[in-house]
Formats: sequence, structure tokens, C-alpha cells
Amino acid sequence: MDETASQPVPAQANHDAIRTLGPSRRAASLQSSGIRRILARAATMPDAVNLTIGQPDFPVPETVQHAAIDAIRAGRNGYTPSTGDPGLVARIRDYLAMDLGWDCVPAGTPGNAPGILATTGTSGALTLAYLALLDPGDECVIPDPYFVSYPELARMCHATAVPCDTGEDGEMTAERVEPLLTDKTRFVLFNTPANPNGVVASKKTCADLLDLCRSRGVILMSDEIYDAFAFPDARTDACARDASVRRCPSPARLPGAQDTVLLIRGFGKTYGCTGWRLGYAAGPGWLLEAMVKFHQYTFVCAPTPLQVAAASCFDADMDPVVLNYQQRRDMIVDRLGPLTHIAPPGGAFYAWVKVPEHLGMSGSQFTELAAEHGVLVVPGGVFSAKDTHFRISYATNPARLAEGLDTLARLMSK
Ligand code: PMP
Repeated sequence: MDETASQPVPAQANHDAIRTLGPSRRAASLQSSGIRRILARAATMPDAVNLTIGQPDFPVPETVQHAAIDAIRAGRNGYTPSTGDPGLVARIRDYLAMDLGWDCVPAGTPGNAPGILATTGTSGALTLAYLALLDPGDECVIPDPYFVSYPELARMCHATAVPCDTGEDGEMTAERVEPLLTDKTRFVLFNTPANPNGVVASKKTCADLLDLCRSRGVILMSDEIYDAFAFPDARTDACARDASVRRCPSPARLPGAQDTVLLIRGFGKTYGCTGWRLGYAAGPGWLLEAMVKFHQYTFVCAPTPLQVAAASCFDADMDPVVLNYQQRRDMIVDRLGPLTHIAPPGGAFYAWVKVPEHLGMSGSQFTELAAEHGVLVVPGGVFSAKDTHFRISYATNPARLAEGLDTLARLMSK
């Protein structure tokens, strides 16, 4: 018997297929996140003062923790509608009515009312919004410095993010945006309070930018993930239906904004639960309807028990935490302000510090030097076309922060 006859014949290697085996051009065009690279390095330096990640260092409010545990125990572990858990959507609707004067409905409801969609993190909302607005070849305008996802999400859509230099004051004004608008621009992405500079936009900036976007027929996407993290001196606006509640200015609070503004907010930073992956979007009905379609085929819905718990976030008072962070902001401005330029941070938990020119160093070089002296910060090039600054996150304990600031101040004065 011919033994070899029954042996399986090895498949001929298909060399063409092997040569092309690899990621899509879309994947190849992406940078891996500069922040994650820094975090990988931080993991090898456990004793360093780590001023890198924007991860709140306070616990989730107890009531919200219990609400999550109760939701799991009550069997709220299946899917919710793609638009979000109805209880959470109702709380968001009430809050936006009070804050902005908007009368929202769940996304996808027929009619012209603004829609609401609960998302998997603020990142989920941004992803769905980019997918719903950008075709290949389209453009959007983003601030420079920017949150790291803004340019990469455009690349994922084969579109281009055009950076708008926000200057020394860090404001994305209509004057700075206007020359960047073309007939391919689909949206302007605004961020207040901003990452990486903590700058809170003025009411005039919000109003002028909204007018510009309206007149040019582009969406104004307002990423307000840090809206509750605005310090009292930046809370210059009264909420639409309760003037006793003060907030930082938002383009969404201006009359008629809901036709032009896509509002994106989140729970992770405000309530110390970044790992819960919860955010929401609200805005023009047609846009929310398109976002829901992408939601159905990607994330499906945000994590159910955590959505249920997030409804109770609206009852938690985070002001004591925000005031504590304001003291840390003041520590940075007092310590480093006399040595260099810092765009005045009115919120979030970041400061955007210029490397003093007399050092003749880029942001990356200074960051390297700081790391050699046991302090980790993020180089400006991670957030900007320019590498002239570094970002400090002060979501860290004040004693360690003070230690880190001493070292940075010493290095900056050399
Ligand atoms: N927008 C900005 C400005 C951010 O700083 C972040 C997180 N650092 C996000 C969006 C994404 O947040 P989330 O964790 O809710 O996806």
C-alpha cells in the first residue's frame, strides 16, 4: 500500500497573500497613542512622580457605587436600547433642559427635536460622530493643541483634521477658525474646558464660533467632557432654567444652538469612573439618528448596569472635589507661572507649560530631562504639531505634585 497516497498534501504557500497579509492602510496610517507610550514607560519607573495621565484620583461617589452593584444584582445585565437606558436618557434630558434649555428626545425619535444618545465613553460619542459626519476627503477643524484622538479619528474616516493654532491664550476663536474653513469642512471640534491646556472658552468665543459655524453650514461639535470640572472663577454663565446654578460658558447654551451644536459630555472624569466607559451625545435629530445606526453595528449599547448607575450621578455633589483640584491648579500656576508661560487653566486637571526658551529644548527633550530626574510629564508634541510645551496632569496627590513641581522648577531655572 502506498502510504504516501493518504497523507495530506501541505497547502502551497500563497506568497501573494502572505505579502499582503497585514493591517489595512487605515490602520497603518494611525500613530499609536503618545500617552500610552508614556504610560508604558511610567510602568518601568514606579518611584517617579507621575504627572501624566488624566485619571481622576478620587473615588466614585458611594451612592453611585451602590447603584451599580444594585443594578447588577437586580439583573440589569442585558442589552439596553442602542439609544441608551431609558432611565439614564430621562435624567440626561432633564439635566440638559435645566442647563441648556434644550427639550431633547431619545435619538431616532421622528421630528426635529434634538436627540440624546448614551455612549461608550466620550470616545464612543466622538467615534460615532466622526463616522456620521465625515466621508473620505472631507475635513474637520480641530484645536491645536488637541486631545490625542481628534486627528486619528479623522484618519480612520479617510478624512483630514485641520489644526487650528489656538495661540498663547489657548482659545479657539472664530477669527482663528475662519481661514481654515473650506467647502469640504463638515465640522469644527471645540473643547472646553480643554485637554491639554485646561483653558475655558469665554462666552464671546462660544458665541462668535457658533455664528461662524451657522453661517457656513457646519456642525459645531462641543466636547465638554470636563464641563463639571470648571473652577468657580471660570463659572461665568448661569444655567438656562436655574440661574442659581453656575457653569462655564458653552456654545450649546446659546439660543437656537441645538440645530448646529453636537454636544458631547461624559461621566468618567467627573465621577472618577473612567473605566466604566460612559458618555453621551445630544444634538440635531438627523445627526443623532445617523450616530445611532453606527452604534447599533459597533458598540451596540453602553454597559447596562453602569448606565443605570450613572443616572444617580446627577444627584452627586462633586464641588468639594473640584475645589480641591482648584488648589492644585493654583500650586502649579504659583510655582511655574513666574518661570514660563502657562495658558490660564480654568478647568479640567491639566496645565500646558511652555519650555522656557532660554533652555533651547523641545518639549520632548525637556520631558526626557524631567524623567531622568524622576518626574514624568507628557511632551507637547503628543498633542500638537509643535513640540514646545509639556502637559502636567494634576490628578495626583498634592504632596507628590509639590515634589514634582520643585524638580520641574529647578530644571526650568537652569
Ligand atoms: N475628550 C477629551 C478632551 C478627553 O480629554 C478625553 C479623555 N482623556 C476624552 C474625550 C475621552 O474620554 P472617555 O474616557 O470618556 O472616552
